[in-house]
Amino acid sequence: MISTAILEDLRRIVGAEHVRTDADTVRENSTDATKRFHPADVIVFVDNAAQVSDIVRLSNREAIPVVSRGGGVGYAGGAIPIAGGIVISLRRMNRILEISPVDLLVVLEPGVITDDLHQAVEAKGLFYPPDPASLKQSSIGGNVAHNAGGPRAFKYGVTRQYLLGLDVVLPTGELIRTGGRVVKNAVGYDLTDLMCGSEGTLGIITKLTMRLLPKPETVFTVMGLFRSVRSAAEAANQLIVAGIIPSKLELVDRQSLAAIRSYLKDENIETSVPLPASANALLLVEVDGGRVAALASLDRVRESLSRSALDVQEAGDGTELWAIRRYLSPAVGRIRPNKINEDIVVPRSRVPDYLEAMETLQAECGLPIVCFGHVGDGNMHVNVMIDAANASELENGERAKRRVFELAVEMGGTISGEHGIGIMKSEFLTLALQPEAIAAMKRIKAALDPNNIMNPGKIFPCT
Ligand SMILES: Cc1cc2nc3c(=O)[nH]c(=O)nc-3n(C[C@H](O)[C@H](O)[C@H](O)COP(=O)(O)OP(=O)(O)OC[C@H]3O[C@@H](n4cnc5c(N)ncnc54)[C@H](O)[C@@H]3O)c2cc1C
Repeated sequence: MISTAILEDLRRIVGAEHVRTDADTVRENSTDATKRFHPADVIVFVDNAAQVSDIVRLSNREAIPVVSRGGGVGYAGGAIPIAGGIVISLRRMNRILEISPVDLLVVLEPGVITDDLHQAVEAKGLFYPPDPASLKQSSIGGNVAHNAGGPRAFKYGVTRQYLLGLDVVLPTGELIRTGGRVVKNAVGYDLTDLMCGSEGTLGIITKLTMRLLPKPETVFTVMGLFRSVRSAAEAANQLIVAGIIPSKLELVDRQSLAAIRSYLKDENIETSVPLPASANALLLVEVDGGRVAALASLDRVRESLSRSALDVQEAGDGTELWAIRRYLSPAVGRIRPNKINEDIVVPRSRVPDYLEAMETLQAECGLPIVCFGHVGDGNMHVNVMIDAANASELENGERAKRRVFELAVEMGGTISGEHGIGIMKSEFLTLALQPEAIAAMKRIKAALDPNNIMNPGKIFPCT
């Protein structure tokens, strides 16, 4: 419980109107997309780095947990203040400070919503590729904290590849600058990279410098329908072997397709996208670039997919196809009331085996397992569908979840491609990392955060 004196200190730092302890604000800012909840003692809406630094110094001195929060749509429980304390909301720090077409970079604050960044740079003919599906709610600070990816990661890489420099408040309160405006930098340890993916446990990002690209001139989309998930995954790999690098390469499995079909029917949604019952998997492929080059890639994709697909359809800029992809979430949500939603990664060559293993696991555990996602990266979203109110189904689902992770690791992969660890996967960390590697990470955490005040209990259980 935070004392009245500390609340007074917080009011002095950010202004009384930005320090909130009312139940609605606390509820809203103490959860995330996992829907789990643990109340913070107080929510503080900061406006600048100096305020963040003052609050963190106070937290460190008084040993009060402090949790940074961006859009609050993480899937790992990272922004949930499981030890109570102070939540620092960065949503007021949402200014884009500079867009430089010469240095090809943008300087911005962490609370900028990902989609706002996209629109701002695209208005100037520039391009920020990372495109998490949550982009209308997620913040750029949260994206860096989880090293977010998205469908375009296959060609363009994840958030880390666009990070040039950060301003960060360390857990002891110092404001440091890492990296900078330069694209090459070989000076000292790479603290920018260390902060990326650290889930708000090593520092609070207060400013970012991100790399940009010129915006591709055009985009074309193709859809391939396949008899089996293996043939779809193998067709995706054939594209790569043929030297084609699509800007997006997404797979939708049999269960997902069935869910979409019945959703479209029940909701009376008309679409020109054919989804025949004979198709058990779908590949969505997008190519981009200059018009001539993109058209040439389109031809090669069509030709490559045609070798094994039941049907190949062009879809212009893909508006209708991507709409179908967006129906996936509500459609799958109707299979069972709850889902255990994971985002494993395996080497791309093992995706066909992994997807087949999920079909076997589904038969073994008797629960629907729905797979879709970024097949080009080997990053699949695996959803074990359950009714959490049914104790045996919940237990069965938890056992299946462990197998989902074990199989990924056995095939040379790992337990998260983009959602991070937070509280949701910390108990499985030892499946993915050696004890010595975990110990080294904990030493880094202890060196930077000697009082363990910054987002305690995340990534590592019991820290
Ligand atoms: C429908 C849906 C679709 C999604 N699709 C994708 C996807 O395609 N790809 C993907 O990668 N993820 C996806 N996600 C997961 C999620 O949206 C991302 O992890 C996103 O990056 C979270 O951003 P946020 O601003 O909401 O972070 P929050 O949930 O607010 O916080 C997440 C973590 O970041 C830390 N953090 C936040 N701001 C800062 C800061 N300024 N400094 C330091 N640490 C900070 C928090 O402490 C916490 O640990 C999806 C989520 C949903 C609900």
